[in-house]
Amino acid sequence: MITSSPVSEAIAAVRARVAAAAEVAGRAPDDVRILFASKTVSAERAAEAVLAGAEQLGESRVQEVVAKAEVLGALPQPPRIHLIGHLQSNKVNAALRHVDCIETIDALPLAERISDRCVAVGRELDVLVQVNVSGEPSKFGVAPDDAVELALRVAALPGVRLRGLMTIGANSPDAEVVRAGYALLRELRHTIVGSGAPGTEDAAELSMGMSGDLELAIAEGATTVRVGSAVFGARPQV
Ligand SMILES: *Cc1c(COP(=O)(O)O)cnc(C)c1O
Repeated sequence: MITSSPVSEAIAAVRARVAAAAEVAGRAPDDVRILFASKTVSAERAAEAVLAGAEQLGESRVQEVVAKAEVLGALPQPPRIHLIGHLQSNKVNAALRHVDCIETIDALPLAERISDRCVAVGRELDVLVQVNVSGEPSKFGVAPDDAVELALRVAALPGVRLRGLMTIGANSPDAEVVRAGYALLRELRHTIVGSGAPGTEDAAELSMGMSGDLELAIAEGATTVRVGSAVFGARPQV
């Protein structure tokens, strides 16, 4: 069911931006999926977005995922939930109960812990390796020089399925700097998938680009853009 509301209009506008950027890049619009970043947004507004066609939501904190699970789980078509914030190891069990993909794997011990838990409960979880392409100290993510090794090790673990790479773009007004970071993520994926190593067969995902720079990310090959404020409005500073 598609309802007409400010959120549905904002979603339509973002879809149009994504389609236009894909066309400029010579790509098919449905090459690029949108993950709606609903962190800090109430469960009710997140549900409104789902009813307006948002199929996957991104959340930063496990506590918030848990708090929204009941409302979102009761929808006719519950969304896929991606964790896009840093995961503390004491939150792994709760995360596994409620998320469909963890996009923020940046160290082997965390990946091993998730793998162990998945094996114990008999499930497979999609994961992305988060890379800090800009090297900004405020950002999580494995260093680009260590990303291939980490990804190949994650790919070999049982219980988790490596789906690709994620990054948060450089915080820079210079579009060329931002783009270079996205290009680097694409090159790392090329190395990982091209390695032919076990578990890298389905690792084509590039989760990159947000409300402010999704065009740059799509130009560099993003397969998922993560959009929050363009749909839900500015967030309170946290
Ligand atoms: C909040 C968030 C986004 C969305 O950012 P906007 O600028 O609001 O579109 C994307 N990725 C991550 C990891 C986020 O935490």
